[in-house]
Amino acid sequence: MRPFLFNSLLAFTCLMCMQCQTKYPMSSNTENPEYALVIHGGAGTILKENMTEDMEQRYHEALTRALSAGRQILEEGGMAIDAVEAAIVIMEDEPLFNAGKGAVLTYDGTTELDASIMTGHNLDAGAVGGVKTIKNPIKAAIGVMNSSPHVMLVGNGADQFAKELGLDIVDPDYFLTERRIQSLKRSKEKEANNEKQDAATRHGTVGAVALDKEGNIVAGTSTGGMTNKRYNRIGDAPIIGAATYADNNTCGISATGHGEYFIRLAVAHNIHAQMKYGGASLQEAAEDVILNQLEGLGGDGGIVGLDKNGRIVMVFNSEGMYRGFALPDEKKTFIFKDE
Ligand code: ASP
Repeated sequence: MRPFLFNSLLAFTCLMCMQCQTKYPMSSNTENPEYALVIHGGAGTILKENMTEDMEQRYHEALTRALSAGRQILEEGGMAIDAVEAAIVIMEDEPLFNAGKGAVLTYDGTTELDASIMTGHNLDAGAVGGVKTIKNPIKAAIGVMNSSPHVMLVGNGADQFAKELGLDIVDPDYFLTERRIQSLKRSKEKEANNEKQDAATRHGTVGAVALDKEGNIVAGTSTGGMTNKRYNRIGDAPIIGAATYADNNTCGISATGHGEYFIRLAVAHNIHAQMKYGGASLQEAAEDVILNQLEGLGGDGGIVGLDKNGRIVMVFNSEGMYRGFALPDEKKTFIFKDE
């Protein structure tokens, strides 16, 4: 009896370890690629049993489209910032994701969008928070970085700034989808019954990190935030150092998950700092921040990132994360934890 129990325990422990090592953190195997691109479309309770094959396919197809657009730019020798913008714009325009069209709804049934961008060669950055009429908030974040003396603009002023820049402005109804109207309804019912809100109320944030042939790293993130948010709540997505960070000497990071925790842990900068000051590899730093620090605090979500050698990581502690990467000779997309 004893040996049987011992062996079973051993087998179980090994299985769990294998899961920790191979399933949550993932990385590419290509060394020093000419360029690299990694994207996410949000993390959360994403379970195979809850998804139809058709939905799965639609997510893979959308992620692939975003990767292809970004990769083409990098392949042709274009800049990392253009690849990040192209990939994020495709996901903002795609109602499947919680960014741009299809963003989650506030308590009032409106959408308030957040986005940020950072360029790793000069540590320049731009962000917008709580915007309501900008079709592609990532473009507004880039506009703040390139065409204003500021890093972050919020609310009506940010909408006004984007209009003056000549960006596409849309009626706030443009962003609304039936799917998000229904999830707001469910979230309010849960709130009324004092039930715990599930992570499904927000997953779908999008982000991209690119390394171009010149060695420049750029990271960007865009989101509608959390369903049922109130009082002009702003999450981590537009906060430089929380969801987005890039430094050519270390890495680029884009995060998704329960924003309040990502702000408190300064997740993206935390990973960069462990590499810069502690000599950690990107994989080690990302695993520490997500699997130890975030998990320890009770938060959930994940990051995608790449280092200056084009090494890619995708680390999360949630059930799944829509994600993918593209290298000169490899392109892959994933949804669930165990793939
Ligand atoms: N981080 C986003 C926020 O808290 C939501 C998400 O990524 O799921 O606003």
